Amino acid sequence: MSNAPTHIDFRANVQHVPPQMPPSVQKATTKFLGNRAGLVELFGPDKWEVLRQAGHEIRLQAINHLDHYLAQLEAQVTRAGGQVHWARDAAEARVIVLRIAREHNVKRVVKAKSMATEEINLNHALEEAGIQTLETDLGEYIVQLAGEMPSHIIVPAVHLTKEGIADLFREKLGVDAPAEPTALTAIARARLREEFLAAEMGLSGANFMVAETGTIVLVTTEGNGRMCTTLPPVHVAFAGIDTVVPDLHSLSVLLKLLARSATGQKISTYTSFIRGPRQTAEENGPQEFHLILLDNGRTRILQDEVTRETLLCIRCGACLNVCPVYNNVGGHAYGWVYSGPIGSILSPQLLGTAVAADLPFASSLCGACGDVCPVKIPIPKILLHLRHRVVEGDQVESATASQIIQAGVNAGTVAFGTPWLYQLGTLLLPLIQKPLQRGEWLPKLPPPFDRWTMVRPFPAFGADFRAWWNKRTGRPLTPKWMRNAAIIAITVEVVLALAWLLTRRRGGRRR
Ligand code: SF4
Repeated sequence: MSNAPTHIDFRANVQHVPPQMPPSVQKATTKFLGNRAGLVELFGPDKWEVLRQAGHEIRLQAINHLDHYLAQLEAQVTRAGGQVHWARDAAEARVIVLRIAREHNVKRVVKAKSMATEEINLNHALEEAGIQTLETDLGEYIVQLAGEMPSHIIVPAVHLTKEGIADLFREKLGVDAPAEPTALTAIARARLREEFLAAEMGLSGANFMVAETGTIVLVTTEGNGRMCTTLPPVHVAFAGIDTVVPDLHSLSVLLKLLARSATGQKISTYTSFIRGPRQTAEENGPQEFHLILLDNGRTRILQDEVTRETLLCIRCGACLNVCPVYNNVGGHAYGWVYSGPIGSILSPQLLGTAVAADLPFASSLCGACGDVCPVKIPIPKILLHLRHRVVEGDQVESATASQIIQAGVNAGTVAFGTPWLYQLGTLLLPLIQKPLQRGEWLPKLPPPFDRWTMVRPFPAFGADFRAWWNKRTGRPLTPKWMRNAAIIAITVEVVLALAWLLTRRRGGRRR
C-alpha cells in the first residue's frame, strides 16, 4: 500500500528520461524564474534579502519550538470546533482517514493538492477501501489519469506536453481532445464540477497552519481548493507538523515569499483561510473539520542541527526551477514524491540513506538552490552533510555506502596522502587506461566504475600535475633529486614485492 521506494537508483532512473521531457520542463521553469526575477527587482533586491532573512528566522523559530506551537494550534483548532489527530507515520495517518471515511459512509472523495498525502500514498489506500478518490488540481488530475507521481512540487504535470495530455484525455476519458490548453482545461473542469457536488468528503493539504488562531492556510492557483474544503460535508486537512507558523504576522511574511518564489506572482490567485467547520451563523462550509498532523520522520530530522533546516521548506519549488540537474532529468528521476534539490535533502532523511543514498550526490553543488530559496535553507551545506552521512555515518545513521565505495574513498585518501603512491599512480595510470581510452575520454569503464560512465564519459588521465606544473612555470614543485629518489624507491618497492610473491609461491609448492 505504501509508495515509499525500497531503493532509489538515480543514475538508472536518468536512463529512462524521455527526450521530449527536458524542453517541456525548461519552458515552465524558465518562465517561473523570469517572473520571479522581475518581481524581486520590483520589490527591491535589498528589501527582498531582508524579507528572506525574516522568513528564515520565522521558520526557524517555529521548527525549534514545535512542541509549543503545535500544542497551541491544537487548542485553537479544537476551540473552533475542529478535531485534531496525530499520526506518527504513514500507516497511522491512513488508518485515521479511513476511520473518518467509514464513520461518514464516504464513497467519493475530492482532493486538493497535497504533497503530504502523496507522501503516504493516501489515494491508493482510499481506492483499496472502495472509495473513489479524485484529484481536482488540474496538474494532479492529469498525473492521476496517467498513473504517475507528480514531477514538480507546484506543477505536477510539468513533464508533459499539451499533445501528450490531449492523447491521455482521448485514451482515458474517451473525448475528442484538441492539443490546446484552454480546451483541455474546459474538459477537466466539466468532469470535476459534478464530482465536487457529489463528494461526501473533501481532502486538502495545508501550506501553513497558524498556531495563534488555529487557521489552516491554502495557497492555490485554481479554485479547486475552495470547492474541496467547502462543498463536501466533511473536510479533512492533512499537514506535516513542520508547516506550523507562530502567528498571522509571520504568515504575512511567508505568503509574500511563497507566491513570488513559486509562480512569480505578488500574491497567489487564491489564498484561503480555514478555521474549523461551518459555524452556526454561516451558510457555507463543512459540518465537520478534521486536521491530521503528520510526523512520518520529521522529528527524526530535528535531531541533527545541520539538516534540521530542511524543515524550513515552504514548498515553493524555486530550487527545482533553478537546478541544472532537475532541468535535465525532471522529477521522476528522483524516485519519490519530492524532487529537485529539496527532494535530494528531504527524501534521504524521510526514507533513510539506505534507500535514498544516491540523492545527495545528484547535484552539481553549484549553489543556485541555496541562493534562490526564500527561507534561506543552506541546501548545498546539507547535501554535503548527507554525503558524509552516506559514506561515513553519523549520530543519526550508520554509513550506508557500499563497501566498494567506502574502500575506494579510503584508497583515494591513502593514495593522495602518500607522495610515493601518488607518483606511482601517475606512472601507471596512463598505461592502464590505454585500452579503454578514446581521445581524451574513457567512454566505458568496467564495474563498479561503470556507474559513472552510465551517465557520462570519464575524462582520461592527462598527465602528472607536477610534471605539467614544472613545464609551465619552470619552477619545479618537486626538485629533480626528490623525483628521482621517489622513482628509485618505487622501483625498489615493486622489486621487493615481486620477490616476496615469488618466494611465497615457491614455498607453497614445496609444502
Ligand atoms: S527548499 Fe527552499 S526553494 Fe526549495 S522548495 Fe523549499 S522553500 Fe522553496
